[in-house]
Amino acid sequence: MPTNYETFEYDVLVIGAGGAGLRAAIEASAAGVTVGLVCKSLLGKAHTVMAEGGMAAAMGNVDDRDNWKVHFADTMRGGQYVNNWRMAELHAKEAAARVYELEAWGAVFDRTKDGKILQRNFGGHRYPRLAHVGDRTGLEMIRTLQDHGIHQGITVHMEWTIVTLLKDGNRVVGAFGYDRERGRFKIFKAKAVVIASGGLGRAYKITSNSWEGTGDGHSLAYHAGAELLDMEFIQYHPTGMIWPPSVQGILVTEGVRGEGGVLLNKDGKRFMFDDIPDNYKSQTSSDPEEGWRYTQGDKNARRPPELLTRDHVARCINREVKAGRGSPHGGVFLDISWIKEKIPNAAEHIKKKLPSMYHQFIQLANLDITKEPMEVGPTTHYAMGGVRVNGDTQMSTVPGLFAAGECAAGLHGANRLGGNSLSDLLVFGKRAGEFAAKFAKENPAGQLNEAQIEDAAHQALEPFERGAAGAGGSADGPYQVQHELQDMMQELVGIVRREDEMSRALENLGKLWDRAGKTAVYGHREYNPGWHTALDLKHLLTVAEAITRSALDRKESRGGHFREDFPDKSAADAKMNIVVFKGADGTMQLRHEPIPALPEELQQVVEEMK
Ligand SMILES: Cc1cc2nc3c(=O)[nH]c(=O)nc-3n(C[C@H](O)[C@H](O)[C@H](O)COP(=O)(O)OP(=O)(O)OC[C@H]3O[C@@H](n4cnc5c(N)ncnc54)[C@H](O)[C@@H]3O)c2cc1C
Repeated sequence: MPTNYETFEYDVLVIGAGGAGLRAAIEASAAGVTVGLVCKSLLGKAHTVMAEGGMAAAMGNVDDRDNWKVHFADTMRGGQYVNNWRMAELHAKEAAARVYELEAWGAVFDRTKDGKILQRNFGGHRYPRLAHVGDRTGLEMIRTLQDHGIHQGITVHMEWTIVTLLKDGNRVVGAFGYDRERGRFKIFKAKAVVIASGGLGRAYKITSNSWEGTGDGHSLAYHAGAELLDMEFIQYHPTGMIWPPSVQGILVTEGVRGEGGVLLNKDGKRFMFDDIPDNYKSQTSSDPEEGWRYTQGDKNARRPPELLTRDHVARCINREVKAGRGSPHGGVFLDISWIKEKIPNAAEHIKKKLPSMYHQFIQLANLDITKEPMEVGPTTHYAMGGVRVNGDTQMSTVPGLFAAGECAAGLHGANRLGGNSLSDLLVFGKRAGEFAAKFAKENPAGQLNEAQIEDAAHQALEPFERGAAGAGGSADGPYQVQHELQDMMQELVGIVRREDEMSRALENLGKLWDRAGKTAVYGHREYNPGWHTALDLKHLLTVAEAITRSALDRKESRGGHFREDFPDKSAADAKMNIVVFKGADGTMQLRHEPIPALPEELQQVVEEMK
């Protein structure tokens, strides 16, 4: 084993301290193995902390008609049936137990009058299903998992970044990284590695994702030989802030619409009533009054069209803007203040139900949402695609490498329902931890390879070498390449996609790869964000290429993937997922994978709930 870099040895190494990583680390540790947890930000600051609306679980506390079957059917319908049905089944069956477990560990949820965990309405969920803590559910989740986790003997390495996975033959046996403060290299030896690195929204210009969402886990797994799945399915959340420009992309929770907020165009029209997809017609209210009653808990009312799935709402907003019916800054209006016509003390009610939204708009936009409508537009929010995993164990196609949370694929199919991510983190974080620990117990440690480590160190330092060699005149800075990539993905592989534009994107990606390989950075390794960005470029480009190639390949529109040149669904494509893998020559390859048929009992559930 090399001695010149600080080295740590664990049975299970977890990369990422969001909900998925923390839950995996807790479970692995409870199984009696040693666990190391590494994360780019401070513990407690992972992107999960930003989650607002809640976690979906069919507890039936507010509407006793809810159960796992309805949740399963909603998730499959939302995902447009290209989901990994086994994951959707496990998620629907296990989410409630995971929420109660979180409560037992100290999470303080909002309550019904009779003291049960309160559940709220959200897009695509037939019944009120989201357990929540105001609009700060992610904060409560992280706080609880962190409190529970630190008593389990997990060793945390915070503000460290993993840049490469280490292999012994075809098995993953560790990881190579650096601490962000000092820039010193670190080596982890592990019998099993769980990737829980979150999303990739930073590949786009307008995104709700935190700075951490650079697709590292997707890319680490891909370069280690794992397969990626469904990368074309990106969720553009319909309601991001659009004004002022400095806050563009920051999320406006769906909870606003769940509490009665309505979408209006510049003429004051509730345009969502104009376009209700056939498969949701029977569940959607036919007039505003019925929609309002639904948001206030009337079990006989159907949900308003503002609570249709995110892909659909985002496209409707896009259409209004393109047709010249948008708001002054290129979005539409989201109005919750109108509820003063319906309830006394509306301003207090809004502040109580949506405290973060109230403060967000007061502080960032100088706008009081209890008095005025917000301006909103779509923002890149969530990656449905990710590392291909076994639905039960969360192991990827590489032995010893597991993935959970947003960086793993399958559960959400072509479109994720709001609230299904937080419960995904708990259900599959737990499973990943459990099976990674099992793998670690059943397999001896592999060997670290010194040449691999030295190669990783050399590659990591190359941007400095180019800077020192005076490449400055001819080379780009990392931020330049990053910004051009983000602009290009926004423009050419965004919410509405076309063959010619995506082909252009692919061509540009080739040039950006080339330029990224020549970027120069200056100074030293301590506190050097330019260097961190130079290292992130490989991940950003990898996920951008995987998204673009997959989006070009899927010649239909489904969920988060909308093709202007193929606006309809294709019956043939309904039966396949797109798998991305690294070919023997090092180039990115694609393969179609047939989706296994639903077992009869689950097919019956889907039919019953139609
Ligand atoms: C504003 C907002 C609100 C949301 N609200 C909801 C909601 O109400 N309900 C819901 O279900 N979903 C919601 N989502 C989605 C949900 O929050 C995320 O999908 C989820 O939190 C992702 O969790 P995760 O554990 O997979 O990853 P994250 O929470 O993103 O954590 C990733 C971790 O990996 C670490 N990491 C990444 N790369 C590396 C690396 N190279 N080396 C070391 N560490 C690394 C990071 O530092 C971090 O600790 C929301 C998202 C946003 C942006």
